[in-house]
Amino acid sequence: MISGAGIAGLTAALALEAKGFSVAIFDKAPRFSEVGAGLQLAPNATRLLARLGVLDRLMAQAVLPDALYLQDGTNGRPLLRMALREAAETRWNAPYLVCHRADLQAALAATVSERPAIALRLDSSVVSHRAGGDGAIVQIDAGDRIEEHRGALLLGCDGVWSARRAAVEHDRSTTFTGHIAWRASLPREALPQAFETALPDSISVSAWLGRGVHFIIYPVKAGKFFNFVAITRGRDPGREWSSKGDSIALAAAFSGWHSAIHAIIRAAADEWTFWPLFQINRPRFILGDRIVLLGDAAHAMTPFAAQGSAMAIEDSCALAVALSRDEAGWPAALARFNKERLARVASVARRGSLNRFAYHTAGPLALGRNMFLRSRPPERFLADLDWLYGYDGTGFRSNE
Ligand SMILES: Cc1cc2nc3c(=O)[nH]c(=O)nc-3n(C[C@H](O)[C@H](O)[C@H](O)COP(=O)(O)OP(=O)(O)OC[C@H]3O[C@@H](n4cnc5c(N)ncnc54)[C@H](O)[C@@H]3O)c2cc1C
Repeated sequence: MISGAGIAGLTAALALEAKGFSVAIFDKAPRFSEVGAGLQLAPNATRLLARLGVLDRLMAQAVLPDALYLQDGTNGRPLLRMALREAAETRWNAPYLVCHRADLQAALAATVSERPAIALRLDSSVVSHRAGGDGAIVQIDAGDRIEEHRGALLLGCDGVWSARRAAVEHDRSTTFTGHIAWRASLPREALPQAFETALPDSISVSAWLGRGVHFIIYPVKAGKFFNFVAITRGRDPGREWSSKGDSIALAAAFSGWHSAIHAIIRAAADEWTFWPLFQINRPRFILGDRIVLLGDAAHAMTPFAAQGSAMAIEDSCALAVALSRDEAGWPAALARFNKERLARVASVARRGSLNRFAYHTAGPLALGRNMFLRSRPPERFLADLDWLYGYDGTGFRSNE
């Protein structure tokens, strides 16, 4: 049984079905919505999506960016160009792609609907769980009635505010990071001229860097739309998610920045949404004998390494491999899974902290950063990412 049909829940269902399990997924949402914005999916995630039979479907809506550019936020000068598309093919053997979160969720859900051993129920909130016999028992609020379901295992894939985790841990494991992600998207034809001329090209990811803030730009929806993410500091607004953002406040946070960024902030003035970023301080996968957390519920992290969804996908495939032995072997396999995944997500979180420091630094340190980015061969920066994007350690090989 899986609580939550986000990226972790749907991927886990597919990976488990591929290993011969029957799966029931419950999500409290009445339907999948277009809420959300762009996602970057690095080769460590796309190689698994290919093996799950999801990648081809997603490709129709995704974009394969040519390169990642780092640019100085104040004058727009390029600091580094990394040839992502070529490196993805030659170094990491899987594509690096960007897409809308809703398109990834839709591709996963469409694949789930083709697998008779997976039952997906929307409008079904998991309200409680307990151990029962050799498994777990959950109560589902299905609107007009409460149902009870039993299974060999319960996966809590219910996101950063996981109710499954909260039911066991009574402390505050989720904290505000001090950062806000502002997201917007615009159709290609609505892009302001000043922006188009400042962009290195229209099929790449560019990250503009500055004191305490950064701004990310890339195409989504098969290139028909552009996605923008601005990261700033901000106060803790409580459990707010995807509310309307004030573009005047956003422009003030980017005061002194290149006119192309201000042109975008203005052009998307009615589109900005405001996403306070929360993280889980003590990542944890095993919640009880028969209860495992995956994805954001286990280890929500800041988005500075752009690996939130990728970690959910890796978790799911690694768990399916751990459970693909007979039940008597589960405790040892889960202990190994727990150890390996905790080490992996800790490394990725460290990389995110390093990116944040490098992106947001100011003064003499920023000058040093810029010199370093300009003078070091791009090949060396790509090699630094081999451990992250070249990773194939989940043991998940195919959906046979
Ligand atoms: C609406 C939304 C939009 C997002 N947009 C982006 C984005 O644009 N870019 C990005 O990098 N990241 C985005 N994220 C975060 C990103 O999806 C996650 O970091 C990553 O995908 C991990 O996914 P997850 O499945 O662990 O969690 P989530 O994607 O948060 O999914 C959790 C799921 O659990 C369901 N759920 C919660 N409680 C219960 C319950 N009690 N019973 C049943 N179901 C429950 C929720 O409805 C949701 O579908 C978004 C998350 C959400 C919820």
